[in-house]
Amino acid sequence: MSDRDHLKNHTPDALRERFAAQGIAPYRADQVVGWLYRQGVEDPSDMTNLDHALREKMSLEWQTRALDVERIDHSGDGTVKAILRASDGSRIEAVLIPEPGRTTLCVSTQVGCAMACTFCATGAMGFVRNLTAAEIVDQICRMRELLEPPGRITNIVFMGMGEPLLNLDAVRTAIGILVHPKAFAFAPRRITVSTVGLVPKIGELLEIAPINLAVSLHATTDSTRDRLVPLNRKFPLEALLNELRSLGDVNARRPVFFEYTLIQGVNDSVEDARRLPRLLRGIPSKLNLIPMNPHPDSPYRPPEAGTIDGFLRVVAGSGLRVTLRRSRGDDIGAACGQLALRRSLSIESGPSSARSAGKME
Ligand code: SAH
Repeated sequence: MSDRDHLKNHTPDALRERFAAQGIAPYRADQVVGWLYRQGVEDPSDMTNLDHALREKMSLEWQTRALDVERIDHSGDGTVKAILRASDGSRIEAVLIPEPGRTTLCVSTQVGCAMACTFCATGAMGFVRNLTAAEIVDQICRMRELLEPPGRITNIVFMGMGEPLLNLDAVRTAIGILVHPKAFAFAPRRITVSTVGLVPKIGELLEIAPINLAVSLHATTDSTRDRLVPLNRKFPLEALLNELRSLGDVNARRPVFFEYTLIQGVNDSVEDARRLPRLLRGIPSKLNLIPMNPHPDSPYRPPEAGTIDGFLRVVAGSGLRVTLRRSRGDDIGAACGQLALRRSLSIESGPSSARSAGKME
C-alpha cells in the first residue's frame, strides 16, 4: 500500500487549501475535482487542462484511485452487486438498484461491522476496519461505470456493510464530496444515512448536511431489541427515541425513516404492530417494513405472507406512514443484511440461491 495522500480523502474546499499551501492556484484544485468526480478521469496525465509540471507532480504525490472491481453480479431484477477491492486487499460490497426514474447506490462504510446484529450477515463477519473517505466515494466512481446504459446515480444510501456513525469522520468527508457543486453535486435529500442507533453521534451526523436519517429499529421492546441489536443494551429504545424526538429543530420537517426487519416469531406479532405507532409518537416518521432476508449465518426467517400483510394493515390503520420494502437483488445475495462477501468465496459453487436489495425512497 502506498502512503501517498489520496485526493479523494479531501473535500473540494480542503483540496483548495492543500493546493494553496503548496503555492498552486486554488482553481487548479477545482479542475482536478471536476476531472475526478464529473468526468470520471483519475490519471493525472489525462487531466489535459493542467500544465505538464503539475500533472507530473500530482502523479508523484497523490493517489487517485482507491478501489478496483473484483466481481460483478447482475440480478434478474436489474440490481447489480459488485465486490470492490481496496489497495490493502480488503473487499467490500456496493449495490446498484435501478428503478424507473431513479438509480440508487447502496454504499459500505466499513469492512465488516462491529455491531453484531444477530439477523445480519455483515454482523456475522465481525469488524475488520473503517473505510477511508476515498474508499467510500470511489464506490460511486466504480459503480457508475457499470451503469448499462450509461446514466446517472440519483440517490445514495449508506446502508451497505458497516455502521456509518462509527466512521463518522470519513462519512463526513464523503458527504462533503457528494454534495459539493463542483464534485458530485447531489442534493442532500438524495442521500440517506442509516444507523443502528448510535445515540451520541446522531446529532453530529445531521449537522453535516440536511440528509435523510434512517434508523434500524427492528423491535418494540428492549428485551427483543437486545436480542437483535446488541447495541440496544447500551442505548435502549427510550434513549434512542428521546434523542430523535429532541432533533425536531435540527431535522426540521424531515421524517426519520425507521427500518423494521420482520422476523418470524420474534418481532412480527399484532402487539408489536400496535406498539409501533405509540413508540414513534412525536417523531415525524416513515416506517419501512423489510421481511427478513434469510442467510446461512442466521437462524431467523421471514414471517408468512399473511402475517406480513396483517402487520402492515395494523400499522397503516394507525395512521403511521408505512411501506413494505420490496426486496431487490436477493438472487445474488445483494439484499439488505446479505452483504458478507459470501458469494465471492464460493464463485465455483454454481447458480445463486434465490433471495433479495432494499432501497430507500
Ligand atoms: N449499520 C447501519 C447501516 C446498515 S443498513 C444500520 O444498521 O442501519 C442495513 C439495513 O439492513 C439495516 O436496516 C439492517 O437492519 C437491515 N438488515 C440487516 N440484515 C437484514 C436481513 N437479514 N434482512 C433484512 N434486513 C436486514
